[in-house]
Amino acid sequence: MKLLILFLAIWTLFALQARITQADEVNSCEWRARSSDIDRDTYSESDTEEEINFGREIAARILGQFKMAGNAKLQKYVNLVGTAVSRNCNRPDLVFHFVVIESSEVNAYSTPGGYVFITTALLEKMGNEAELAGVLAHEIGHVSERHIVKELSLRGTEKSAVSSIAALLGGASKSAEIAFLQAVDKAVELILRDGFKKEDELQADSSAVLLCALSGYDPEGLVTLLDKIGKIKTGVGKTYPVYDVRLATLQKVISDEGISHMKLALNTERFVKAMQVEKGSNPLSIIQKVISGGVHE
Ligand SMILES: [Zn+2]
Repeated sequence: MKLLILFLAIWTLFALQARITQADEVNSCEWRARSSDIDRDTYSESDTEEEINFGREIAARILGQFKMAGNAKLQKYVNLVGTAVSRNCNRPDLVFHFVVIESSEVNAYSTPGGYVFITTALLEKMGNEAELAGVLAHEIGHVSERHIVKELSLRGTEKSAVSSIAALLGGASKSAEIAFLQAVDKAVELILRDGFKKEDELQADSSAVLLCALSGYDPEGLVTLLDKIGKIKTGVGKTYPVYDVRLATLQKVISDEGISHMKLALNTERFVKAMQVEKGSNPLSIIQKVISGGVHE
């Protein structure tokens, strides 16, 4: 009898576990299907090409205004986390790049085509890898949903990317190059000064929750980080939604999608270790070690 009870207890446990796993699989299938539904047929290859060219130019401008953090190990670590998250987004046509820039501004930026920047000041506010993944996923969200492309109404045509931007700006009398550079100026202003529309921020947050969960990171990381940032500043740009609205939206998505019961990673130890390397090392000495063969990565 005791054996039968034990057998039944174990069987129930397994059945329950299987149901939870099945529910998670259904969820992740739904998330993938939903995210890849967006704009599937409305953008062509030439649109993507234009998007990447345009984004590269904006990224060069941003890099012209900030200094890249000199620590190669830190850059590599942030890139690894970002790349892992970006593999689950709905833009297999893009290769994402992640760059740490030196700035006392607590912020992250992204350009069309997949260039993501995160400041050293924002990294210093973080306590685990899930918080880093959350911020990178939010920026990936802006890129994958083409928020800047849509804001500036950029759209590729059968003509070249540059001529379509020229047409957009009504630049018939100006050279296509000037029109292109004007569009770049506008985008840089939007990214560094004005900020995204409230709806875009909330959409990037919602998609970050799903992206983090799909990548195995606890989306609560984005919640705890936003909570910390919200306490030290009220927002970037005139249209940036206030932090409590963003926090409420994040919590709602996490609860609606049934993510709270999933055991997802924070990776605190790995993050702390990566940050210690950042604080305690001289970038030049690391580069010298790599050159002399002292560091194998
Ligand atoms: Zn944003």
